[in-house]
Amino acid sequence: MSNKPANLVFIVSGPSGAGKSTLIQRLMERDPRLAFSVSHTTRPPRPGEKDGRDYYFVTKETFRKLISKGAFLEWAQVYGEYYGTSKGEIDRIHRLGKDVVLDIDVQGARQVMERLPKDQWVSIFILPPNLETLRRRLMARGKDPLDRIERRLAVAREEISRAGLYDYRVVNSDLSAATEELVGIIAWERKKRGVAAGSEL
Ligand code: ADP
Ligand code: 5GP
Repeated sequence: MSNKPANLVFIVSGPSGAGKSTLIQRLMERDPRLAFSVSHTTRPPRPGEKDGRDYYFVTKETFRKLISKGAFLEWAQVYGEYYGTSKGEIDRIHRLGKDVVLDIDVQGARQVMERLPKDQWVSIFILPPNLETLRRRLMARGKDPLDRIERRLAVAREEISRAGLYDYRVVNSDLSAATEELVGIIAWERKKRGVAAGSEL
């Protein structure tokens, strides 16, 4: 019987445009012990997005079949599309011996918080400095049609009101500072559980 601590699940949420993908990508480059959980979605790919890397892009019919098979740890409808984390994806990452990073919405985060024991997950909410900056970032990203951007901004306030449910809140004003804050949170949470810095165990 090994004393090895269970792998952790880092739940990252925040309004669209807050910078979750950008921050997670930076974390992945910094920390080989983290692996990004690739979600299933029914939304169309954005320019440059790749199936199997950014998302598993599926039809609504396929997604509903997966729901009825019980394939998801959590799933939700966000901006009129389905999004979900498959149990298979989490198992795959755990088999690699890595900690999981989930980029999921507030509804999905709630489900994971209820379904997994508290010592296995850490929740982090990414906030934009303000709503005007959020709008600018969504426009600057330039990868969503205008009606989708408006829809995302309309639900941002509601999502931000849930930030208190999370263990940590990180304001993504300066990208490097926010990245360092996340690196610090991850290091601290591992340390609390007895995982040594730089350890492959
Ligand atoms: P999310 O995954 O939360 O929807 P993204 O990571 O796609 O957000 O970021 C939205 C846009 O904002 C992208 O164009 C990204 O390059 C930009 N961005 C992210 N973080 C910052 C930051 N700290 N300062 C300025 N621009 C940022
Ligand atoms: P986007 O379309 O901008 O990639 O993501 C839209 C929203 O869906 C974001 O809030 C993102 O966190 C959320 N999301 C992405 N994957 C999942 C998932 O697997 N489950 C849930 N519940 N939300 C997800």
